[in-house]
Amino acid sequence: MARIVIAGSMNIDILSTMKRAPRAGETVNGDTVAFMPGGKGLNQAVAAAQLGGEVAFVGRLGRDAFGDQVEAFFREKGIDTGHIVRSTAQPTANAIIFVDGTAENRIVVIPAANGETSPEDVATVAIAPGDVLVSQFEIPRTTIAAFFRRGRAAGARTVLNAAPALDDAPADLWLDTDILVVNETELGHFAGASVAADAPVVQVADAARRLFRRDGQTVVATLGARGAVAVAAGGEVLVPGRPVKAVDTTGAGDCFVGALAARLAAGDALPEAMRYANVAASIAVTRVGTGTAMPTADEVAAALAGA
Ligand code: AMP
Repeated sequence: MARIVIAGSMNIDILSTMKRAPRAGETVNGDTVAFMPGGKGLNQAVAAAQLGGEVAFVGRLGRDAFGDQVEAFFREKGIDTGHIVRSTAQPTANAIIFVDGTAENRIVVIPAANGETSPEDVATVAIAPGDVLVSQFEIPRTTIAAFFRRGRAAGARTVLNAAPALDDAPADLWLDTDILVVNETELGHFAGASVAADAPVVQVADAARRLFRRDGQTVVATLGARGAVAVAAGGEVLVPGRPVKAVDTTGAGDCFVGALAARLAAGDALPEAMRYANVAASIAVTRVGTGTAMPTADEVAAALAGA
């Protein structure tokens, strides 16, 4: 079976709940604290692995207890950790998340070891024809560019989740991307025209077409509760959202990307893979958390059977 090779970020999220977040110079008592694996790369890897994908991960952790926690979590999920490098200079990345009594959150991300992920790190991981390569913008772009260049030369497919939106559009990387996955905010950012959350699909498709840089590329725009649309030169495929009671949409996009990669590696055509990813992500939004909210293959199968 084709593998999913992900070069990306890994964090330990430090999630604290409190009635009220502190103001500058103030100290408050919090109610709870939890240390949970997160980061876009990690979340996508977990989704892909839980949905039956064979996943190898390339990235950097610190030589610390948080790094040990991430590696143990990956091993538990059956993810190949052979290309994870332990940094000597930087600690494992953290996202420090404050959630107050009104469910408003404030987040500080410290990229730390993720920011050191280098082109050398992606130079030796095995890539075979048909493999699906996945990355996101939480590691250096030069590293992603080297990874995708190698992947395309080896006959793999490249999936770029251009999140979070960076200031400038990375021209070289766009060329080596086969499938670009963006949400409406990211699409608007890179297309140079804002795309409203309720923008008509034709408008979304117009913006998506502006991101094409060569033949054969597809832009997949995720539309939250409205589902997702794939735009290619030959036309569009719209997958309507699955109605659910959403409690936490953090990580929905990561679940979508991980599930999409798992199904593409299993041999699905893009529309089928999108329908599966849409159902998987609709399950993830019914749970709190990110890496720990990803559904299993049985849960997705049950939801597909009930649809
Ligand atoms: P987003 O990043 O918000 O566009 O969400 C990514 C994917 O998660 C969407 O394409 C949907 O498949 C799914 N999703 C997000 N929010 C919801 C929701 N409220 N209800 C159902 N599915 C959702």
